[in-house]
Amino acid sequence: MSTLVIGAGPAGLAVAASLRSRGVDTVVLERADHVAASWRRHYDRLHLHTTRRWSSLPGKPIPRRYGRWVARDDVVAYLEDYARGLDVRTGVTVARVDADGTDWVVSTTSGEHRARHVVVATGYNHTPVPPAWPGIDSFPGEVLHASTYRNPAPFVGKDVLVVGVGNTGAELAVDLAEGGASSVRLAVRTPPHIVRRSNLGWPAQGTGIVVRHLPVPLVDAVARGISRVEVPDLSSYGLPRPTTGLYSRVLEGSVPVQDVGLIAAVQSRAVTPVAAVVGVEGADVLLADGSRVSPDVILAATGYRRGLEPLVGHLGVLDDAGVPRSHGPRPARPGLYFTGYTNPISGMFRELRIDAERIARAIG
Ligand SMILES: Cc1cc2nc3c(=O)[nH]c(=O)nc-3n(C[C@H](O)[C@H](O)[C@H](O)COP(=O)(O)OP(=O)(O)OC[C@H]3O[C@@H](n4cnc5c(N)ncnc54)[C@H](O)[C@@H]3O)c2cc1C
Repeated sequence: MSTLVIGAGPAGLAVAASLRSRGVDTVVLERADHVAASWRRHYDRLHLHTTRRWSSLPGKPIPRRYGRWVARDDVVAYLEDYARGLDVRTGVTVARVDADGTDWVVSTTSGEHRARHVVVATGYNHTPVPPAWPGIDSFPGEVLHASTYRNPAPFVGKDVLVVGVGNTGAELAVDLAEGGASSVRLAVRTPPHIVRRSNLGWPAQGTGIVVRHLPVPLVDAVARGISRVEVPDLSSYGLPRPTTGLYSRVLEGSVPVQDVGLIAAVQSRAVTPVAAVVGVEGADVLLADGSRVSPDVILAATGYRRGLEPLVGHLGVLDDAGVPRSHGPRPARPGLYFTGYTNPISGMFRELRIDAERIARAIG
């Protein structure tokens, strides 16, 4: 076989389609029973916060009827349609990738496969990071990772502490407040950059695309100016403006929060920002400012790890944080490619498309 792609999310499907259009024999191995497994698990109200146009994968635009901000179910329908005609083998988990001469040997739950090229596309959000505060095991209430959240129904009438104010934590706090939780607090370690999803019709993603190759201090300064105009000062509500620049933070791995209701929810006190969580004592959650809260539920939006170590850790292709040292069309080792392991300011789907075309060119 010429090429094996691991993972049938948008990244793997985009690479497979690009390779097929170049006539390269390609098989995609997917551990779930369907393509787009991650998108099927996302929460109900999720819409792409990147535009339909700038989120389309190679060779097939997302249909206009899905609107500008595409809903989760429509993303899944698009990816299902996109996968038609590709050779996707579902229910196959890849355990390990090894080199054998100029070939790669991929060990899976359905036996070994050999290929000249392997593209790893198992997802940036692969393994949920559980909360690890001292005392968490003794908390008598519910502790959930945000990856398991679907909608607010199970939390009606409950006091919920959402921990982490990335895009997911911010939106889940709003969803809970609108959906009937009795109290919603949002624990914030580092105040986030908040941007409007679109301003006078111009999407925040468009600005990300335009500025991404400009000097970081310049982008930080421009973003500071824009933020002062379009985002109100929420300091008196417990959410001060960040002290570090927007693009500097992106390069550290933290993309800005697109406002899909957080500003209004904080201003109306439907969502209350509180200090970071530092520990748990019985039913009390201890916060960094010395205060305590006693929620019924802790919803940890504490992020994900790449989880690549068992698969390729032994090949010396990962850095200390478990991130591939080489990405996109530059192989980590001859014939071994990674896609989907960055979190760019210009939108991940867009970068997956660009990388897929470049990887296909490199292989084809
Ligand atoms: C809540 C949320 C909202 C997002 N919204 C946007 C947005 O609006 N715009 C945007 O551009 N990006 C967005 N992203 C980021 C990114 O585009 C998505 O995470 C996207 O799904 C990444 O695609 P992927 O193919 O790299 O990973 P995934 O979609 O996670 O796909 C990886 C696939 O690999 C499979 N897999 C994993 N391990 C193995 C294995 N060992 N063997 C076989 N198969 C395996 C998984 O089952 C999965 O199907 C969002 C992310 C999240 C979490």
